[in-house]
Amino acid sequence: MKQYDHFIDGAWHAADGGEVIDSIDPATGEVWARFARGNNADVDQAVQAAHRAFSEGEWSGYSAQQRADCLLSLADLLEQRWQDLVEAEVRDNGKRIVEVNAQFAGLHSWYRYFAQQMLEVESTQLENQIPGVTSTAHYLPYGVIGVITPWNSPLMILAWKIAPALAAGNTVVIKPSEHASASTLEFAALCAESSLPQGVINVVTGFGEEAGEALVKHPLTRKVSFTGSDFGGRKVAEAAASNVIPATLELGGKSPQLLFADVDLDNAINGIVSGIFLSNGQTCVAGSRLIVEDSIHDEVVLRIVGRARKLQAGNPLKPETQVAPLANQVHLDKVLSMIADARAQGAICVCGGERQYPEDCPNGFFVQPTVFTSVTPAMTLWREEVFGPVLAITKFSDEAEAVHLANDSVYGLAAGIWSKDQARAQRIAQQIQAGTVYINHYRSVDPGSPIGGFKRSGYGRELGPDAVKDYLQIKSVWVGSAPCADPFPTN
Ligand code: NAD
Repeated sequence: MKQYDHFIDGAWHAADGGEVIDSIDPATGEVWARFARGNNADVDQAVQAAHRAFSEGEWSGYSAQQRADCLLSLADLLEQRWQDLVEAEVRDNGKRIVEVNAQFAGLHSWYRYFAQQMLEVESTQLENQIPGVTSTAHYLPYGVIGVITPWNSPLMILAWKIAPALAAGNTVVIKPSEHASASTLEFAALCAESSLPQGVINVVTGFGEEAGEALVKHPLTRKVSFTGSDFGGRKVAEAAASNVIPATLELGGKSPQLLFADVDLDNAINGIVSGIFLSNGQTCVAGSRLIVEDSIHDEVVLRIVGRARKLQAGNPLKPETQVAPLANQVHLDKVLSMIADARAQGAICVCGGERQYPEDCPNGFFVQPTVFTSVTPAMTLWREEVFGPVLAITKFSDEAEAVHLANDSVYGLAAGIWSKDQARAQRIAQQIQAGTVYINHYRSVDPGSPIGGFKRSGYGRELGPDAVKDYLQIKSVWVGSAPCADPFPTN
């Protein structure tokens, strides 16, 4: 049994209250690790350490180049040793080892990109209309950043937040998901071997409404970056508002895929299948609503169902496994209940729809890849995020209807457009209410391209050329060369 403590100021600390949280391996249903259950005192200790590192420690005097060198030393370690982190993530959240391998092999590149980006941020001369005075904008770090991450891709999402935050000169306190904290703690151990000074990266584990809320409300936390559910995001936004600190929120999605009859169908089916069934649909950009032109609807359904039925469920640690378990029991129950609701509301289940029990993992939290047709915008399956391998299909008859259906959602994270007609695809891309639109392609993420939501999918953007500035605050410095006039002249 693995036992993990908090990582604070470069050292391991047991929970103040002595309590632990069990981490269940979703492939076996058994406890495989324990995390410290963080409370106010643990969070305070971590935030104080991060604040000291920011305001007094060697980090506070580092140039952008020195910070970049620290991030590059971490990137080098990640490039050499990412394999050491893989098993912790597979055991914790049940993601397939081939997907974790692919994510982790590239982890170092997020740190390299943001190390370079910060070197390009310079103070800028400002325009003003006041004679004899110049002004300059300087970009300064906030201080302690609270970083709250979900269970689906803990280390990749963490990199999107802490690489720009650290490059900018902040320090961080990370609160990973209570369902999957292990890889973040293994990563913290690697950070301790890098040239990052103590206290720059701290990890407190625990529940969201306990450790997470304490972190957002701490008086020394200066900004928060959150990825998670719609519900958690609203709680974090409220707590951040009460602490008067900015928040970046990356929340859920119900992303549409628009499929036109003039498409290269082999390519599109690959994109749609990967959009909903890779990672078991447990990705923020899962393409969970397929909106397909009526003339090709039946053929598309047949082909997707043919692919979904062949997928082999099994132990996520085996490279040949194609369907892994869902991440935890509560989530499994939620997905099964949404499938039951979809049936009750009149959607037609043409594939899957049941829990499954693979031979090598009979007690795991597995669901069959599931496809529903005849889904209407009034149904829960259309409106709410499942965050599981459940595809909702509906038909359209013309472009305007397709766009209307795509935008008929409270969410706006991503969308896919599949058509050989580039002019039409580009036109639709402008009309879709989503932070990311893919044309004849789906799911890519890259350090250079911003990601984030429209509408209830959140606010703020991560990644891309402006991400470092999101972790910097601006100070205007004024310099006068003309004499100051006496404001109260006497005659
Ligand atoms: P969640 O909201 O339950 O938890 C996310 C994190 O927030 C966890 O660390 C949790 O402990 C913490 N938390 C929960 N309540 C909190 C509170 N009141 N105060 C402070 N922290 C709190 O989400 P989850 O189930 O871990 O993740 C799945 C969700 O994340 C899905 O909705 C998915 O769409 C979303 N997601 C979004 C993106 C994106 O980039 N937009 C990426 C991945 C996942």
